[in-house]
Amino acid sequence: MNGDLSKLCIHTITTKPWKIEEAAKNYAEAGIKGITVWRDALEGRNISQTGKMLREHNLEVVSLCRGGFFPSKDPVKRKLAIEDNRRAVEEAAELGTSMVVLVCGAEPDQSLEESRKQIRDGIAAVIPDAAAAGVKLTIEPLHPMYADTRSAINTLAQANDMAEALKSPWVGIAVDVYHLWWDPYLEQEIKRCGKNGNLSAFHICDWKVPTTDMLLDRGLMGEGCIPVRQIKTWVEEAGFEGFNEVEIFSNTYWKEDQSMFLDKIVKAYKEHVLYDMDFVLNGKQAL
Ligand code: ZN
Repeated sequence: MNGDLSKLCIHTITTKPWKIEEAAKNYAEAGIKGITVWRDALEGRNISQTGKMLREHNLEVVSLCRGGFFPSKDPVKRKLAIEDNRRAVEEAAELGTSMVVLVCGAEPDQSLEESRKQIRDGIAAVIPDAAAAGVKLTIEPLHPMYADTRSAINTLAQANDMAEALKSPWVGIAVDVYHLWWDPYLEQEIKRCGKNGNLSAFHICDWKVPTTDMLLDRGLMGEGCIPVRQIKTWVEEAGFEGFNEVEIFSNTYWKEDQSMFLDKIVKAYKEHVLYDMDFVLNGKQAL
């Protein structure tokens, strides 16, 4: 079947064994139009030249991953985090993207409330830089299993609260199905996010059953229990028109031939994101 890949974006970390130059060439050859760049993929490279190389492959740089990690009990570390986020904003501008994704951070030695306050202060400190560079700071709520050290923002409601409190056109939110699929308030919070103009990014993969590693065992869309198409419908109904970004960290898939893995991604995207195979094959009601 012919699938429309015009809204398909892949995160460089998804095909981690490939250098960014190989990823760009192979994504472009597969007809993919978007790329989200992880900062490690830029190591040792001229960032603006790398951005140019990506555009020469007709790839839109959807975002730079990642900034964040604001909370700490140590005020010096909090300052360093703000400086690092300012650098991320500069790097995004050099690369030619208008978005930095934030994994906001958490400090296990203090309350989640205190960490959230430090996140809010940290983002607020970087907003003027983001505005000057034309780069949006995009808060990504993370699954609560990461509330110890990775993020004190664990639901879309909390991300909405934060974005609405910061009230800036330079702050947005990334909805990642892996982190949010379980949330009983997801549909209404996606509506709220769209209504307030904060819905900036949409990340997709699947939750494998059983999951053998809480970080590095993400699945291809359709391989697990996340209703990806249902969530995509909610996101679209909330007004989102951006890319569907495939973000898979997987020790299993990283060991595979990456060209074969890329084929699987495109196939899974067509079958489980663009279409509903249960409906196509069995005439079951589409989600
Ligand atoms: Zn994500």
